[in-house]
Amino acid sequence: MLQQTQVKTVIPYFLNFINRFPTLQDFAGADLQTVLKMWEGLGYYARARNFHKAADIVVKDMEGIIPDDFQTFIKLPGVGDYIGAAVQSIAFGHPFAVVDGNVKRVLARIHRVDAPVNKPGSHRQFKILADLHLDENDPGTFNQAMMELGALICSPKNPRCPSCPVSEFCKVFLSDTADQFPRRIEPKKIPVFHIAAGIVRKNGKLLITRRKLNGLLGGLWEFPGGKVEKGEEASSACIREIKEETSIIVETDAYLTTIHHAYTHFKIRMDIFYCRYISGRIHLNGPIDHKWIRLTDIDRFAFPKANLKFIPLIQKI
Ligand code: SF4
Repeated sequence: MLQQTQVKTVIPYFLNFINRFPTLQDFAGADLQTVLKMWEGLGYYARARNFHKAADIVVKDMEGIIPDDFQTFIKLPGVGDYIGAAVQSIAFGHPFAVVDGNVKRVLARIHRVDAPVNKPGSHRQFKILADLHLDENDPGTFNQAMMELGALICSPKNPRCPSCPVSEFCKVFLSDTADQFPRRIEPKKIPVFHIAAGIVRKNGKLLITRRKLNGLLGGLWEFPGGKVEKGEEASSACIREIKEETSIIVETDAYLTTIHHAYTHFKIRMDIFYCRYISGRIHLNGPIDHKWIRLTDIDRFAFPKANLKFIPLIQKI
């Protein structure tokens, strides 16, 4: 499902997945590394992990049959009300209304809803409206039509009201107030974290570490590093963080680049340094695995998008 992600972004990933894993059994039997590598660049990696876990449960405990009962289906990892309603209505024709950002915007305009669409407390109000409109005879088509209406016609800016099939009962169209809806609350200011990371080189190989399976970017590989403390030099933070995470002593050789990346709730500015291994044995504190790899093998590992931004700049040793 496509929460926060556009269809055109997902299409090549979808085609790769279907090619590589033609059946649910194929997907459930794949190792997580392969799945994360194929998901690389899409973000929201918890979805990949949950999707993989859910496929495993369906194959092992449900004879490979996706449950057509809403309550059983939403107990699968990663499935909430939105995915539950979408799958149950589209795949099985069950009467559950989907409420996503597109649907909320359409409903907010049709009904001139004053409740802000981005306030969690107003979700229930939009759910009631969506249920009210739901075509119980064909809920799958109705839900897809609502999402498409929001994506293609009732767009956030400059909605195409003259082409809209529901304009005759849309309150904001009739009152010429489309530009005032939906209402939104001012989002909180997004913090920016300063990060330092190191490309540690030893005997022609580079050190990469693997993040814990749970949490942000869980299970992905990365170049070790961490937050720069207040008043600290980025290069010193790089050395300190690598020591804290891996126990080895390194020195920074040269600055490589700085990249900027935005996550959902924060942004980072990451300074990257080439580092020289000095001493010590790896004892991990935080990461769950490490590898010394050749640069030519880097494509075999799944990295967060922030790392993918500077990997092409790494020079062969
Ligand atoms: Fe959106 Fe305009 Fe259609 Fe109303 S008439 S639902 S504002 S596109």
